[in-house]
Amino acid sequence: MTAMPDRTQSDYEVVVIGAGVAGIYQIKRLADLGVNATVLEANDGVGGTWYNNRYPGARFDSESYTYGYSFSQELLDEWHWTELFSPQPETLKYLDFVTDTFDLRRFMQFGVRVEAMTFDEATDTWSLRLDDGRTLTCRFVITAVGVLSMPTMPQIEGIDTFDGLSFHPFDWPHDPPSLDGKRVAVIGTGATAIQLIPEVAKEAAELTVFQRRPNWAAPLNNRPISDEEMADIRARYDDIFERCTRSPGGFVHEPDRRGWDNVSAEERRELWDRLYDGPGFGIWLQNFVEIFMDEDANAEFSEYIADRIRQRVDDPELAEQLIPRDHGFGIQRVPLESGYFEAYNRDNVTLVDAAETPIERITPAGVLTDDGTEREFDIIVYCTGFDAFTGAFDRIDIQGVGGQRLRAKWAEGPITYLGLTISGFPNLAMLAGPQIAATNFPRAIETSVDWVTPLLEYMWAHGHRRFDTAADAEREWCEHVAEMYEPFLLRKAKSWITGYNSNVDGHEYGRMRLNVYNGGGPKYAALIAERAADDYEGLEFS
Ligand SMILES: Cc1cc2nc3c(=O)[nH]c(=O)nc-3n(C[C@H](O)[C@H](O)[C@H](O)COP(=O)(O)OP(=O)(O)OC[C@H]3O[C@@H](n4cnc5c(N)ncnc54)[C@H](O)[C@@H]3O)c2cc1C
Repeated sequence: MTAMPDRTQSDYEVVVIGAGVAGIYQIKRLADLGVNATVLEANDGVGGTWYNNRYPGARFDSESYTYGYSFSQELLDEWHWTELFSPQPETLKYLDFVTDTFDLRRFMQFGVRVEAMTFDEATDTWSLRLDDGRTLTCRFVITAVGVLSMPTMPQIEGIDTFDGLSFHPFDWPHDPPSLDGKRVAVIGTGATAIQLIPEVAKEAAELTVFQRRPNWAAPLNNRPISDEEMADIRARYDDIFERCTRSPGGFVHEPDRRGWDNVSAEERRELWDRLYDGPGFGIWLQNFVEIFMDEDANAEFSEYIADRIRQRVDDPELAEQLIPRDHGFGIQRVPLESGYFEAYNRDNVTLVDAAETPIERITPAGVLTDDGTEREFDIIVYCTGFDAFTGAFDRIDIQGVGGQRLRAKWAEGPITYLGLTISGFPNLAMLAGPQIAATNFPRAIETSVDWVTPLLEYMWAHGHRRFDTAADAEREWCEHVAEMYEPFLLRKAKSWITGYNSNVDGHEYGRMRLNVYNGGGPKYAALIAERAADDYEGLEFS
């Protein structure tokens, strides 16, 4: 039986916050080194994203076999992905399997949230206050708190007055409610709603979707993976991960570099037809690179996708309502769907244009729009996104050198060095936090862990007690991050990549937050490897 972590122990060399994909791999590396380390996790189990988001239709947009960890041959040999794009229950099972394979639960404390942490300059240690009343100390803190781990509810009056069931999909009840015969409202049409709507439509008596801004979406084209195909994938893992490493997005999809102007309109269409019928992010990431940078190229491709939507939605007026007008295809992360547009052809599904008739309030019976119509519901689902990238950090009161608060430093957006450290916050490293190359996440997570672990080894080997980040190195990195937004149309998007969220104060459109590094995975990996090889240039040790 697995030994439980000792909750009376109050001092560690390393504390890892979060037991998602990042925290699991980080503690594995530390356990292998025999370091005195623990993981603190607010949930009652591992998995992070895949522990929380249990809504119908929740699944990857990453090919399953590119989402799994690459670090262990044992895992690659043993795990069988059953679908090309794994559904949430299977992914959670996978992460439990990884945790048990390496007996990692003995390092993990569940059901405990870090509320505050303060750096003590006299001892060069962190002091962490937990929500169960304990205080822990440690030399190093590694955050694995997630970029989409803080859901945001809409700021609509009357939300607490609703008599029926209501929740964000992140909080979908673990004992799922029956939708059979129910009148369900879905508020929002982002990536989660686009996965959820076709599933709810099949079960509920009535589904009403409140849409403020439509999103572009393209087919996921999921399918099962047979035993034979899995054997073939296993034989090709080296090649698969090598492709992920050299592609900007960390996927098996590599951009078409023939050059927009070098191909005819027919050739473009040929490629698009193939990609639209192909799996996953191909339609986005195997496309011409010009689509991301050139307004005309983007407009031509967006019109192609608009036509595809028109072909799939029976009612022409409804089809037009589902086509975005305020942004082009692919300048926001593209939601992938399985029957999303066809869901609107069903008699039990209604679309309400919440831009034209905004929601005025939630009432005990349902939703009142500003044209005076009150619609009654049994269940309301708020698909209103996440306080992305910095939300989980903002929820912890983090105090660095001289009492400086991270929340204050990041008020206008994240400021980091390589997306890994922060000046004025010594002995703190981030995994898959803001300003990394936000690729296929596990690929970026392995890159982060494989950088942070040797950094700690370097410190132990040299007898250092403290690292901090040089202010000028941080400034230069942030300038580079800003520069890498310039060539891309995504800089204009109302999306989490630019920090837009109408339900979070200070995240209004126009107050651009530099949340990600847009230089792509290969460039990012090379850059951070160079700094490491140069005795961690940019960091100051003592
Ligand atoms: C619905 C959905 C679908 C997604 N699909 C994909 C996909 O197809 N491909 C892809 O690459 N990425 C996808 N992502 C992104 C996904 O978040 C990452 O793939 C990955 O799961 C991130 O892992 P993580 O360990 O960094 O963070 P998380 O999985 O978010 O884990 C963070 C953990 O930290 C814990 N935590 C946070 N704050 C505290 C605190 N103060 N104290 C204690 N514990 C704390 C949380 O409880 C959580 O368990 C998706 C995200 C969502 C929400």
